[in-house]
Amino acid sequence: MTDVKHMKWWGWGKEGVGFHFEDKPGFAPFVDYAIGIDLWKTPAQEPIAFDTLTTPKSKATKVIVAALVAISGAANVSTDDELRVVHTYGKSIRDLLRIRASAIKRAVDVVVYPADEAQVQAVVDYASENGYVVIPFGGGSNIAGSLEPIASEKRIIISLDLGLLAKVTAIDEGSGLATIQAGAQGPDIEEQLNARGWTMGHFPDSFTHSTVGGWVATRSSGMQSDVYGDIADIARGMRMVRPNEATTVIRPLPSSSTGPSVREMILGSEGRLGVITEVTVNVHRTPAVREIIGYLFPSWEAGIAAMHEISESDAKPTVTRVSDAREAGFSFATSKAVTGIDAQKILQRYLKARGWDLENINLSFIGYEGSKSHVAYEKAIVKSIVKKHGGMAVGKGPGALYDQKKFDTPYLRDFLLDRGAAADVSETAAPWSKLNQMHDAVYAAANKAYDEIGVKGWIMSHLSHSYHSGACLYFTFAFVYKTDAIAEYDVVKQAIQQAFIDNGGTLSHHHGVGVEMSAWMEQDISSGGVSLIKGLFDTADPQHILNPGKVLAGE
Ligand SMILES: Cc1cc2nc3c(=O)[nH]c(=O)nc-3n(C[C@H](O)[C@H](O)[C@H](O)COP(=O)(O)OP(=O)(O)OC[C@H]3O[C@@H](n4cnc5c(N)ncnc54)[C@H](O)[C@@H]3O)c2cc1C
Repeated sequence: MTDVKHMKWWGWGKEGVGFHFEDKPGFAPFVDYAIGIDLWKTPAQEPIAFDTLTTPKSKATKVIVAALVAISGAANVSTDDELRVVHTYGKSIRDLLRIRASAIKRAVDVVVYPADEAQVQAVVDYASENGYVVIPFGGGSNIAGSLEPIASEKRIIISLDLGLLAKVTAIDEGSGLATIQAGAQGPDIEEQLNARGWTMGHFPDSFTHSTVGGWVATRSSGMQSDVYGDIADIARGMRMVRPNEATTVIRPLPSSSTGPSVREMILGSEGRLGVITEVTVNVHRTPAVREIIGYLFPSWEAGIAAMHEISESDAKPTVTRVSDAREAGFSFATSKAVTGIDAQKILQRYLKARGWDLENINLSFIGYEGSKSHVAYEKAIVKSIVKKHGGMAVGKGPGALYDQKKFDTPYLRDFLLDRGAAADVSETAAPWSKLNQMHDAVYAAANKAYDEIGVKGWIMSHLSHSYHSGACLYFTFAFVYKTDAIAEYDVVKQAIQQAFIDNGGTLSHHHGVGVEMSAWMEQDISSGGVSLIKGLFDTADPQHILNPGKVLAGE
């Protein structure tokens, strides 16, 4: 049995790790206020036991398994039901609801873990020769339906897990480039780079359970993208295996003018063009100083205007993030109980005395990296911009806390699901001039959807990832479902996605398209754009065996 580790089959992250509210005095009242669950009185419904789940039987015959074993070895091929379920879905709320309801229509038939690029090629060629489907699997963390097989798929489905390819194989110290095998997860990568004094600077919230191959395949973005760039900027070179073809090799060049960019075609391809086996990324010397400072703003508009001005200033912070009042309320509610002086209460009294509306406090985090003098210079610029917009700094404490907690938040969704609430996220990017309108329009759309289905729903938002012309807005929504959680979720999700498009945003800033967002592709990139992508997919994969059905709907 392979020793590649996977997340829980029913939820986020590691077995035995979860969210707890008992040590956070503000959390139960907050949840009651937001979605009407009394946590003290609502018992948790644990997910069903795995053996009560109905997993569609594997269609992989002994001959198929033997052929894969001949390529990758017996320890690295499995038709085990739990492993097949883990490889069938990502971690969207739709995925989790289907698994918990034992409503898996089509599971992958067999999982194979190739140990090198030659084995990846052999698996892909074998699949092509026999007309079998291949779905590349990284960490399984996507929330766009990028992994799930088409429900009516009759062909054998092979999940090709890159988990054995997890090494940083080379660092070109003279150029600041590192070559990394595609299945390496965030912590693998940073540990290996940090040991030699380097960092990649890519920290998505899913960092602990996602891979560099998956980041490239979904066009991921990390919290420090303002300086390090999105993965589309960071990933300079790559190798991709395609059926019965020579490996596609993109050399890690700083820039190039060689026709339409094949590198860009691979970015966001979600397994539709081939299997990425290796990525060469920009890396940077680990900074001498790294700080995240918390700030408060008296209104959402003031916070957005400040982020915009910071993005145009000489300060180039790594993180620019501002949460609206509702999300700030959520953050305060997840703080642990304090013994001794309660800084939050003192701060509230101070703000009240200065005329702030305590119901409308917007919380911002700004990250700085570099030499001591560089960080001091940037902080001084930001300080004057924040002041100009009526905001104030609240120091390193809240920033450090945010930095520590950021990878724990995903566990909260399973906690809510155990108590009958569906929670998920949607994100867009839009020009600066449209962000306030977008924020209001998405709230209105979500609230209308909640009214339509007759539930008490919650929505909150933050801005993160600033660019020259705009930024990403990220929305988290939650509600206690009534009868059909997925149908009710669809009403809310569709309203939000449509509001993105109608208000000048993209359907996804960094989660990719999968099957979840593909219905909006034409509205996002035009029918001409869809036709170009279709041409690319059809030509690159005439058999439609490479993760079919993702990115473009109805294939
Ligand atoms: C709680 C939570 C927080 C998240 N936060 C962020 C965030 O901050 N930023 C962000 O960008 N995303 C975020 N995501 C989404 C997700 O983590 C990203 O989409 C991530 O890039 C997926 O990587 P993965 O390795 O898990 O890929 P998987 O989920 O395994 O696969 C995703 C897609 O990529 C394809 N793929 C994977 N590996 C390869 C390969 N080697 N070759 C070809 N195709 C491949 C798969 O076939 C599939 O289509 C979050 C998700 C969750 C659940």
